[in-house]
Amino acid sequence: MEPVILNGKALSIQIEEELKERVAKIKEESGVTPVLATIIVGDNPASVTYVRMKGNACRRVGMEPLKVELPEETTTEELLAVIDKLNADDKVCGILLQHPVPKQIDERKCFNRVLMEKDVDGTNVSSFGAVTMGQDAYKCATPAGIMEILRRYNIETTGKNAVVIGRSPILGKPVAMLLLNANSTVTICHSKTKNLPEIVKQADIVVAAVGVPKFVKASWIKKGAVLIDAGYNEGNIGDIDLENCAPLSSAYTPVPGGVGPMTIAMLMSQTVDSAEKKYLKK
Ligand code: NAP
Repeated sequence: MEPVILNGKALSIQIEEELKERVAKIKEESGVTPVLATIIVGDNPASVTYVRMKGNACRRVGMEPLKVELPEETTTEELLAVIDKLNADDKVCGILLQHPVPKQIDERKCFNRVLMEKDVDGTNVSSFGAVTMGQDAYKCATPAGIMEILRRYNIETTGKNAVVIGRSPILGKPVAMLLLNANSTVTICHSKTKNLPEIVKQADIVVAAVGVPKFVKASWIKKGAVLIDAGYNEGNIGDIDLENCAPLSSAYTPVPGGVGPMTIAMLMSQTVDSAEKKYLKK
């Protein structure tokens, strides 16, 4: 059977339609337009593009983006002060600090400074802890997008072997916790993992979050596995050699048009959740 293409782009359009209605209701009932603040430090071209795309998505669903651009030489203290200001700004429902920040900045400290109720990108360590414990908190956007793809395509996770390649704080680690909470048996692999191909061969669900183009090879894939390619490398190339792996799978996310658009959709969705909590007294 032909593998199913897990069309994140189409899903994200559907989600935006749902969000438009929810934002319209907030505006109607409160007279307020929810604001998502985005902070970008420096002018990394990929980050500039991501922040622009997030601002555009914000406008499409009827919210207002507030872009804060800081120079490359910004210090941790200066960035913390900006976050404090946004935390205290009553109009701001969500705060996104675009990753990565320049090396001199303590990124973890800055992520952790975002108030949990405004942490719509789910990067605060308290949000991670709460989500891991199954409590109500905002999830990291890309992992949330991956789970939403699995949910909307009715892909069973219970009892499945899920192998996550990568353990970064914004992707590998949180997606592994979400899969665990969804009753998968999860193995997390990283650069020190031995026998990676053999481990991946056991996987019913493979999540690649490595940052190496076409890292996952066809010979590692169990027939019928579900392939989630979170990678996004120069030239629109993912972390899975999809050309050769996809035909062996039962379903896969394309690159582009898979996980990427869902990341932005989840950021929007969690910002709307935050705005509803604030303005609709949910
Ligand atoms: P990262 O912080 O660089 O983490 C990469 C992870 O891969 C690390 O845990 C690393 O292991 C592991 N790794 C590296 N080389 C490996 C190897 N040879 N064997 C096994 N594991 C290896 O990257 P990230 O931020 O998680 O991003 C991963 C990918 O996702 C990138 O392609 C990025 O562009 C993409 N991404 C996409 C979105 C989206 O919205 N679509 C969002 C974020 C990221 P160690 O921990 O041992 O170093």
